[in-house]
Amino acid sequence: MAVLEVIRMGHPTLREIARELTPEEIASESTARLIEDMRETLHAYGGIGLAAPQVNVPVRLAIIEMEGGTNRYVDVEGHDFGVYINPVLKPQAGPGAGYWEGCLSIPGMRGYVERPQHLIVDYVDVAGVPQTLEARGFLATVFQHEFDHLDGTLYIDRLASTELLAFDEEYNQFIAEP
Ligand code: ZN
Repeated sequence: MAVLEVIRMGHPTLREIARELTPEEIASESTARLIEDMRETLHAYGGIGLAAPQVNVPVRLAIIEMEGGTNRYVDVEGHDFGVYINPVLKPQAGPGAGYWEGCLSIPGMRGYVERPQHLIVDYVDVAGVPQTLEARGFLATVFQHEFDHLDGTLYIDRLASTELLAFDEEYNQFIAEP
C-alpha cells in the first residue's frame, strides 16, 4: 500500500470526464491496489471522500468513509468505508441544503454549496455487482461532491457567489459557529 499524491486545482486531470471501468478492470489486481492506496491516501490526508481522478487516475471510481458525530462540517451519521464504481446519481424531489464544503484538491479553503439532499445512487461494487443505495442530508452532499469529480467538476463551480468562498482560518474566525 502507498499514500498517493492528491493533485490540486489547476491539474488538467481534475477537469477531464473520467471513463467507466470495465468488468475485467473492476476484477483486476490493479484496481484492487488502487482502492487500497486510495483508502490509505484518504486516511493520510484526513478526508471523508476521494475520487480516482484526484490521484490522477481518470476512471469512474470514488471512495467514501465518514465517522459519525460532530466533525468539522456538521453533525453527521457515520458511513462505513464504501467503494462506488461507475455511479449514476438520481436526485430526488425535496428541499436542498447547503454546507461549507472542502476538497483535498483545493487545500486550505472551503465554499458554501447548496445541493439536493435526497439521492438514489446506482453503482457497481468491488465484486462487480450492481447495487443501489439511498443517501440523505450531508451524506447526499458528499456523494454529489465526490461524483462531480468524475465529470471534471469542482465545488467551486457550484458556488452561487464567489463571496461564499473562504480560507479555513477566516472561515473559522468569521463564519463558523463559535
Ligand atoms: Zn473534492
